[in-house]
Amino acid sequence: MLIRGGRIIDPSQGIDEVGSLLISEGKISWRGETPPQPDYDVLPAEGLIVCPGFIDLHCHLRQPGFEEKETIATGTRAAARGGFTTVCCMPNTNPPLDNRATIDYIKAAAAKEGIVRVLPIGCISKGRKGEELAEMGELASAGVIAYSDDGSPVRSSHLMRQALEYSRAFSLPVIDHCEDTALSEGGQMNEGILATQLGLRGIPAAAEEIMVARDLTLARLPGARLHIAHVSTEGSVELVRRGKEKGIRVTAEVTPHHLTLTEEEVIGYDTNAKVNPPLRTKRDLQALIQGLRENVIDAIATDHAPHTEMDKRCEFALAPSGISGFETALGSLMRLVHDGQLALTTLIAKLTGEPAKIINYDQLGTLKIGTPADITIFDPDKEWVVDTKTFASKGKNTPLAGSVLKGKVMATIYEGKLVYKDDSVKIEVR
Ligand SMILES: [Zn+2]
Repeated sequence: MLIRGGRIIDPSQGIDEVGSLLISEGKISWRGETPPQPDYDVLPAEGLIVCPGFIDLHCHLRQPGFEEKETIATGTRAAARGGFTTVCCMPNTNPPLDNRATIDYIKAAAAKEGIVRVLPIGCISKGRKGEELAEMGELASAGVIAYSDDGSPVRSSHLMRQALEYSRAFSLPVIDHCEDTALSEGGQMNEGILATQLGLRGIPAAAEEIMVARDLTLARLPGARLHIAHVSTEGSVELVRRGKEKGIRVTAEVTPHHLTLTEEEVIGYDTNAKVNPPLRTKRDLQALIQGLRENVIDAIATDHAPHTEMDKRCEFALAPSGISGFETALGSLMRLVHDGQLALTTLIAKLTGEPAKIINYDQLGTLKIGTPADITIFDPDKEWVVDTKTFASKGKNTPLAGSVLKGKVMATIYEGKLVYKDDSVKIEVR
């Protein structure tokens, strides 16, 4: 297939130019202005952006154990609609992904039912209980790309230290859900005046920052690799910045919702705006964007957390946390580009080459010749209304339902195969 005449942006090679790409046998085989011979199907990309397929370091596919919320089949279809060709799934399933059999199961299910690449993350502790380390060597040889107890923090400093120590042998990062539950327990939203007005118990910024500070201290261990998940506060950005300045091997991610929405979404008690860590203030949001611009924050990850409608249809305090994020990620992030807060190439780098580096995959997140043809094609200016009925995800839980976003994925190609296209894209068959 030939992708014709798009604006090709590949930050990993410093490319931003109008041209065409040729795909053969699942790989990118040619890039240039005038294609060799017209002997292939053509995807007309004039006026569209053509970039490496997005990589999501943090999502919840819910399988096994919570198939009513999402499955590998529905989750990867939602990912494809969002422009993601690689998704890293968190191990807080039932059973949790803490041994070889569960990782083998995810890989087999992904090969059979998935339509994009699924890379599993293994647990830090057995059963995610925070008591005893999981078999990290066994998990590494089974093919996990990182370790995390996401959904729960690792309370014990000793256990976190051990995890950072052992993970070095496999050169894999530890992905850190930073939350001091002694401070966050019972919390429903960001702590502040608004929480008081709404009568909801707050979660202070300190609940996150104390853990970020602790684990940066532990990560001084030579060779350890710490990755901070879903950074949400100005203070955390500051701590990661100082950690990097001191030479600690730390990376960090931020979600589209923490970059674009504030605690005010909770006014009206919309349970779809309940998320952990909570949506914060305008000031935090500005610090997060600044952190991205200055490469204090390395990657954007969705933390796609689907729930059923029944899960969320209850009083605020009882609702589970999480936002269904794959299918609105690009559209909401493009607001930052349209507002002049983030350069388009920076946004693309944070969704492609940068996350690839964190998981040590130099063949992904790039359009280099010979690499897998994982390609996302989007219209930066197309306006569309978020209609959760059209979601491929089982999770319709988003505070963005009904809102207008500007910027839409038009086609997603995974290993040379078209796994999603907008109805308006017409393939010219040879
Ligand atoms: Zn988390």
